[in-house]
Amino acid sequence: MRFSLLRTFGYFVGGLWTAWGGRKRIETKQLRNLRRLVEKARRDSPLFHRLYADVPPSSEVELRDLPVTRKPDLMRAFDDWLTIRSLPLEKARAHLADMSKIGVPIGGVAVFRTSGTSGEPAIIVLPSRFLEYTFGISLARFERYHWQFLREMRKRGMRVTVTGGNGHFAGVGYNKLVRSLHPKLVKGVTFIEAEQPIGRLVEQLNAIPVSSIVTYPSVLAILAREKEAGRLKIEPVILNTGGETLTEELRARVLKAFPSLKYGILDAYGCTECLVLSFVCSHGRKHVHEDWVILEAVDEAMQPVPDGMLSDSVLLTVLANDVQPFIRYDLGDCVRFHTDPCPCGSPFRSFEVEGREATLVHVGGVTLSPLIFELEHERARRVQLAQTGEREFELRIDATDETAAETVFQEVSQSVTRVFRDNGLADVVVRQSRTPPEFTASGKFHEVLPLRAAKHQG
Ligand SMILES: [Zn+2]
Repeated sequence: MRFSLLRTFGYFVGGLWTAWGGRKRIETKQLRNLRRLVEKARRDSPLFHRLYADVPPSSEVELRDLPVTRKPDLMRAFDDWLTIRSLPLEKARAHLADMSKIGVPIGGVAVFRTSGTSGEPAIIVLPSRFLEYTFGISLARFERYHWQFLREMRKRGMRVTVTGGNGHFAGVGYNKLVRSLHPKLVKGVTFIEAEQPIGRLVEQLNAIPVSSIVTYPSVLAILAREKEAGRLKIEPVILNTGGETLTEELRARVLKAFPSLKYGILDAYGCTECLVLSFVCSHGRKHVHEDWVILEAVDEAMQPVPDGMLSDSVLLTVLANDVQPFIRYDLGDCVRFHTDPCPCGSPFRSFEVEGREATLVHVGGVTLSPLIFELEHERARRVQLAQTGEREFELRIDATDETAAETVFQEVSQSVTRVFRDNGLADVVVRQSRTPPEFTASGKFHEVLPLRAAKHQG
């Protein structure tokens, strides 16, 4: 695997050229990239060859002609899915099982896995050109504001990624990969494991000059608490979040806890299937990199949802990865496209994301947002509410000292029970658990674990 600066520059210049041409040039470029990918997929991927047997010729094909694809079907046919034959599932699995190989390419491609919080994990295969795309296109979308904070970030210290370290996840693996291919691109970037005890995490952060942090909102919530308590000393100028929904409450709280945040919080939307699919502009909106990515807001029947309406799911097409085709791939997130142009002037469409399905709690016929539970307690570092049965929950408590656990349980369970009762669920049982609060496989922390997720984490 090699990283070409020349090709990266190509994505950069191409990205600028497309944006300057406005909507018409963007749509033309997108369609050309789509047809090229469809041709490659039906020629070199046995799975897509079968799937597209009745699809019109690649030179005439439109997005609507293509069937929706889903993770379980693609993963089941993994050996036929890729457009290369050198990475069968068995080989990819063996690579992912070896923790010394995180971020190490295999046979000319990079391999990561998803966290599997919303079902079985997927194996994601990225060619060099996808990495070149991520750098080139991101730079092409920079406004003066982005160059400013990039300069300041570099001057003021380290850029720290705080995510799961116990697995081949993109958070940790991507930096390692780029470091091995082109160290200059990740100069001043470092990684800290999210799963370690908070005390140690805080210690590690306090030991270095931190100019920015990339992490999940759930981990950010923990850091905000540590900052409020005066234990965390860092003064970053910008924070980047992704992987989960950043609520307005958390955003406000973090901005208050970290007055040094001159450039605020950039909440990007991406996934392991497409690490860079949108960019956050100077007005805080997420814009799709439409020349290389297609996002379709759809209803339950996979039919398009008009702009301004919240979708039931979203279909992702990644035009920059021709080794593992993701074409009209059902991501399961709910999005809403903005109907008005963004004040930043970008010709790329902007959208917002609503809470990921996995975090909602279902009890009987009632659906609850995790946000309505008050799970903070001054004598606990963190408290987790895990659903263990249809109407059974347990509280996992990481108390500040041993004598506190009982008090925390009494008080938190009282407030949780009240929430259930207020929602017509008087018969829900809340028990105290001996298990400490758990992180997801990729190092996210969910204060509330619905049944499916709680089961998944075992
Ligand atoms: Zn904008």
